Amino acid sequence: MAEEKLQFQAEVARVLDIVVHSLYSHKEIFLRELVSNASDACDKLRWMALTQPELTADDPGFRITLIPNKDAKTLTVADNGVGMNRDELIENLGTIARSGTGEFLRQLTGDSRKDVSLIGQFGVGFYSAFMVAQSVEVVTRRAGDAHGWRWTSDGTGSFTVAEAADAARGTRVVLHLKDEEHEFLEPFRLRHIVKTYSDHIAIPVQLKDGDAEPETLNEASALWTRSKDEITAEQYKEFYHHVAHTFDEPWLTLHTKAEGAIEYTSLLFVPTQKPFDLFQPDRKQHLRLYVNRVFITDDCEGLLPAWLRFVRGVVDSPDLPLNVSREMLQHNPLLKKIQNGLVNKLLGELKKKAADAPEDYARFWDVFGPVVKEGMYEDFERRDKITELVRFRTTHGEDLVSFEDYVGRMKEGQTHIYYITGDDRAAIAQSPLLEGYRAKGVEVLLLTDPIDEFWVANAPGYKDFGMKSVAAGGTDLAAIKGAEDDKAAEERKKDEAPREDLDSLVTLLKATLGTKVKDVRPSDRLTESPVCLVADEGDMPMHLERLLRAHKQ
Ligand code: ADP
Ligand code: MG
Repeated sequence: MAEEKLQFQAEVARVLDIVVHSLYSHKEIFLRELVSNASDACDKLRWMALTQPELTADDPGFRITLIPNKDAKTLTVADNGVGMNRDELIENLGTIARSGTGEFLRQLTGDSRKDVSLIGQFGVGFYSAFMVAQSVEVVTRRAGDAHGWRWTSDGTGSFTVAEAADAARGTRVVLHLKDEEHEFLEPFRLRHIVKTYSDHIAIPVQLKDGDAEPETLNEASALWTRSKDEITAEQYKEFYHHVAHTFDEPWLTLHTKAEGAIEYTSLLFVPTQKPFDLFQPDRKQHLRLYVNRVFITDDCEGLLPAWLRFVRGVVDSPDLPLNVSREMLQHNPLLKKIQNGLVNKLLGELKKKAADAPEDYARFWDVFGPVVKEGMYEDFERRDKITELVRFRTTHGEDLVSFEDYVGRMKEGQTHIYYITGDDRAAIAQSPLLEGYRAKGVEVLLLTDPIDEFWVANAPGYKDFGMKSVAAGGTDLAAIKGAEDDKAAEERKKDEAPREDLDSLVTLLKATLGTKVKDVRPSDRLTESPVCLVADEGDMPMHLERLLRAHKQ
């Protein structure tokens, strides 16, 4: 087949433009990205070879090879992993398929400083090669295929694809280095970069410099199998970047080995920053599952509940069967046991953070609280434990408040936990619905996450206290002994209109408003404003009604 010329997807062209023109710091990360891809490709083939051993029979030992060539001014990163066929090549290196890409691109502003920091979080993967290369050549053959393909591009708008009859299994990425980037031909530089960013890669990364014997540059053992005191914070962080495909600091790193009815090692991370795909409808979890260091899948539904989908990392168990399909694995009863272990561990650790480092916990809560709260109505088994982790903003100051804090300072006679919902904290904090509560010093939770309406609607509350919206039906304020002293109450009473006047006003309002309202009632919830709108007891909360109407439901 003759060489074909194809255009990059518009999004890729934009990313390439930023990569080439604005991304100047830490250029060496291109190597981390290419080694990471090579390692993923080896992992994939190792898994396929479990059921199709013929795929690796000709060359069974996986390796990644770096070949600097000072004469040709090229650096080659080669692997003998799964490789790509023609369609995969065009799809993978011509488009960006990662979920969250659309969202990410919408956030790009054209202001290169901001864009570069965003791209740093998002990671541009393969395309980072164009930071140091004027052109890139990819020669690849999918394991099991008879012949391979050659892809070339200078990173400006288009790429070519042609058949490559003599391609070896796997992928070789040949970088034609820019004149000012020849440092990446120096063995000492390559050694240092691999040690810094890719030491945790479980496949050997070898340097092949001229005729010299290949030299292995990394530790080449799976990081999670090493003992904790031999792993540095930097190594954990680089490993997190590799498995999570994000580039922030891990907020929490949790490396544990469980030994008991079932044995497994887990290395879990909670990100600092919100992943781009957090609110994608598929709510996919992202742990990588290994069986005895053989990568099985990063899409194993049963491993974590959806409300913990922000957790990244790996789980490795020798007790799971190696030779089964991913689908069967999802229904393996051992998986449920592992899930329980992981969730308990995470819940325990979050609780500890909340108690010992409340400010640090607040940072976590502001980012992931809305997801954790999904567990309040989805995960009944663990609802009590999740309840302890939930935090709120309230009418009492800026600090995050737990149910325990709230209940601890309830007023005498108060039997409910009061809340108000809306989109904007500042706006709902001004609501006239709060006047009566404020006058009595009764604290009200300010709920602004879209998810809040859903869980509070059937939340059992905390201890013996149910949840109650300040916007619902009547109030029980009369029963609460608040901060307002008797004298102030007396004063206010004196100002109140006589009952008959109020009754005739209500009659007049009902007649005027007709069917626009369900009812008009006198209320003790207001102290300053003359009227407010509330939903009747049992009716849909107004905020939710607005939300559904906005979605035309
Ligand atoms: P990501 O690794 O986040 O998916 P990349 O831009 O790094 O994004 O790579 C895009 C895709 O190209 C990968 O998901 C993979 O399917 C394919 N790919 C890249 N490098 C290789 C390789 N060495 N071997 C096989 N496939 C590869
Ligand atoms: Mg990648």
